Amino acid sequence: MNYKSKDFLIDGIKVKELAKRYKTPIYCYSLRKIKENIKKFKNSFNSISPIICFAVKSNSNQNLLKEIGKLGLGADVVSVGELMKALKSGIKPNKIVFSGVGKTSQEISFAIKKKIFLINTESESEILAIEKIAKKNKKKINIGIRLNPNTDAKTLSQISTGKKENKFGVSEKDFVNLVKYVNNSKSLNLKCISTHIGSQILDIKPYEKMLRVLDRIIKKNNFHFEYIDLGGGMGIDYENNQKNLSLKKYCSSVKKFLKIHNSKIIFEPGRSIIGNAGILISKIIYIKKGYKKDFVIMDAGMNDLMRPALYNAKHRIIPASKNNKKIKKIYEFVGPICESTDKFSSIKNFQKLDENDLIIICDVGAYGMSLSSNYNLRPKPIEIMIKNSKAIVINKRQDLKELI
Ligand SMILES: *Cc1c(COP(=O)(O)O)cnc(C)c1O
Repeated sequence: MNYKSKDFLIDGIKVKELAKRYKTPIYCYSLRKIKENIKKFKNSFNSISPIICFAVKSNSNQNLLKEIGKLGLGADVVSVGELMKALKSGIKPNKIVFSGVGKTSQEISFAIKKKIFLINTESESEILAIEKIAKKNKKKINIGIRLNPNTDAKTLSQISTGKKENKFGVSEKDFVNLVKYVNNSKSLNLKCISTHIGSQILDIKPYEKMLRVLDRIIKKNNFHFEYIDLGGGMGIDYENNQKNLSLKKYCSSVKKFLKIHNSKIIFEPGRSIIGNAGILISKIIYIKKGYKKDFVIMDAGMNDLMRPALYNAKHRIIPASKNNKKIKKIYEFVGPICESTDKFSSIKNFQKLDENDLIIICDVGAYGMSLSSNYNLRPKPIEIMIKNSKAIVINKRQDLKELI
């Protein structure tokens, strides 16, 4: 994914060719990059050989899930819909972990019927609900309990999940009592302690703190967990400034931890597998002169890519074709949606743009399409995968007539 002379190419294909062929906006993914990310992830954690369950909520495209499954990953799902999609993509039930604070009894029943690997519970009530269903079906169900380690992930507050004021997991005190309860249950098998402190984490320290908390709690419980699920959250380089989480360093911290706790590690990465493998290609509809800045009004909006509006997240924006005309003015890149939060970025010293030019929003493979909506009654974009330097449509553009 880079420029060759003036034009931006993704795996040998010009973005402007894709735009001509498929119209815009387009979500475009590089399978080569996904493979590279998975290889890097596996290599970095090689010495602890973890079970890797891809977080389906980051991208639930079935064709991508199929490819990710083929590369040996399981799935971390947070709804029955994601569970069905993972199964339909060929991911085996014994590689699927079910997370989430609000699993309904229908969702739990379905997961039990499909004999998935693990249900990670997040409250006493959920544990009781699973026990009830297990009893009714005369089964013994494998569960994990998610601990809220009260650890600040030092990331955007909106995607922080491991502090005590967050709704996720159970407190230390509750954890101890729940372990005792589950231990005495004839219908539940306590297999795992799980945690997930947040997303887009670039600093190793929160992970190290999380491991210290886990260490303390496991010792306090004096219970051997067959599995320790550390969640996902590994951050990526959105700003292209090489500020990266070192997976190898994270691995050595976990390795140290495992010297005391002899358990199998589970990871649930989403963003780090697919985030930088996707771009959003959009066309400029109009350029409007504003007060102190020009508005670049694109055909992709917050309904297509929600992260900037939802989390104040930043994505790099680049032209599909370079010219050498720099301007001093500020461009504010916005979508067509009737909301003031429908803006992606304000950039100074961008190249001079014209109406109908193509724009690329970078690193949208994770939480891009999966967070999209039909707001303003706009059809969802087409999704394309580049495989062996060929473009394949992996999800058609939503049909406006059908939508209406
Ligand atoms: C969202 C989520 C993940 C994935 O997080 P990433 O930041 O995409 O790696 C993993 N586990 C759980 C429980 C989650 O909610």
